[in-house]
Amino acid sequence: MSQQRVLIIGAGQAGGQLALQLRQKGFTGTISLLGEEASAPYERPALSKGVLTGTQTTEDLLLRPAATYPEQDITLHLNTRAEQIDLKTRQVHTDTGQTLEFDILVFATGATPRQLPLPGRDLPGVHLLRTDTDALAIKHRLQNATAVAIIGAGFIGMEVAASARRLGIATHVLEAGPRIMARSLPAFLADRITELHESQGNVIHCNAALKGFKGNHQVTAVEFEDGSELKVDAVIVGIGVTPNTQLAEAAGLPCDNGILTDARGQTSIPNVYAIGDCAASYLPRYGRQQRLESYQNANLQAENVVANILGNHSEYNPVPWIWSDQYHWQIQTLGFPAAAEHWLQRGSLESDRKEIHLGFSNNKLSAVVSIAEGTAAAADVKVLQRLMEMEAQPDPDQLCNPDVKLKVLLKQVKK
Ligand code: FAD
Repeated sequence: MSQQRVLIIGAGQAGGQLALQLRQKGFTGTISLLGEEASAPYERPALSKGVLTGTQTTEDLLLRPAATYPEQDITLHLNTRAEQIDLKTRQVHTDTGQTLEFDILVFATGATPRQLPLPGRDLPGVHLLRTDTDALAIKHRLQNATAVAIIGAGFIGMEVAASARRLGIATHVLEAGPRIMARSLPAFLADRITELHESQGNVIHCNAALKGFKGNHQVTAVEFEDGSELKVDAVIVGIGVTPNTQLAEAAGLPCDNGILTDARGQTSIPNVYAIGDCAASYLPRYGRQQRLESYQNANLQAENVVANILGNHSEYNPVPWIWSDQYHWQIQTLGFPAAAEHWLQRGSLESDRKEIHLGFSNNKLSAVVSIAEGTAAAADVKVLQRLMEMEAQPDPDQLCNPDVKLKVLLKQVKK
């Protein structure tokens, strides 16, 4: 074990965590971390929030200062793209002409934002958001903007909209579907969040049929199918991502909207793993392979694969958790809220500073959505996550009663 060579492709959140934790937990072989970006591994959540509003810098997002990697005997190859993998000879070829050998290979290649196939999409002022460079370009653009269009009303689009409003910019969210956040939330909660955004002056257009973007040297308007136009100085496209699976597919690994792995994070080839946004891991709790795009997923999958590389059998089996900061509200979700069958509510934002929506399927608590002022619901969501992990069936009346402490319910279940 001690002489093994671990090679990680993708120096983002999951890849960076894996390298650092592997060393921290005593791995004594070589660790190489290959990343096509110029920055050392960093966390992306603040790119749509604090970086745009100016409360955080991109340096604040680094997992560790760049100097930590050589100190930890981790070879970090930045500005280096893996271009081809030979799983038989166990070699990776890079765009810098290097050939790197491995015993254990980890894909942590993340995902790429989808582009809109519309005329004008290459005009200056039309942005995608995935990297620190993208966020700084958007921040710069917003400094002189008076009106902005955000295309796509998923979590990232709604966060960017909130950041733009905080900067005092007229903000329009243009969503092709009939409502916002359709992939992640049931309709009544999407309506609730629409209401909150509208209370802050954000204008949300659903069923928006876009024709293209207009402008000579930079974008000046969004054009709709009906011939109408919306004048803007900037456009941010947030219509989802595609997992970076091309390298794995070319190497012959099975992929289906993500590199397929078992619950240990291993692909169909021994000692070849995939983690983070690029991986569709088997989730025992849900009985299916699924890709999850979240901070929690990147960290926990890295931790899981570290354990397996070190020979400690470990299976990833999360209750998925996501948070999103929009204005002064924090939204958190547990499980897959769009799939829950019926909902109950605990508290209200107006009277308790937080409201927690509890989703049930087959009479079991299967999903949670909290909307709170800042982190007011953080402790409650942790307890609910624990209850869901235990597959507990607490009394719904008690769950909904804000006078009954959730911690007390957890204690009762544990007895
Ligand atoms: P990434 O962090 O994207 O890293 C993948 C890396 O691999 C990239 O640097 C890429 O350049 C590199 N790479 C790809 N191919 C190659 C190759 N062939 N050779 C070398 N390098 C390669 N999650 C939440 O839970 N809450 C949030 O509030 C939240 N906000 C977000 C806001 C934004 C703007 C974004 C973009 C994401 C947000 N997320 C959030 C999601 C979270 O950041 C991602 O799930 C997480 O970054 C995934 O980590 P990863 O390591 O799999 O991918």
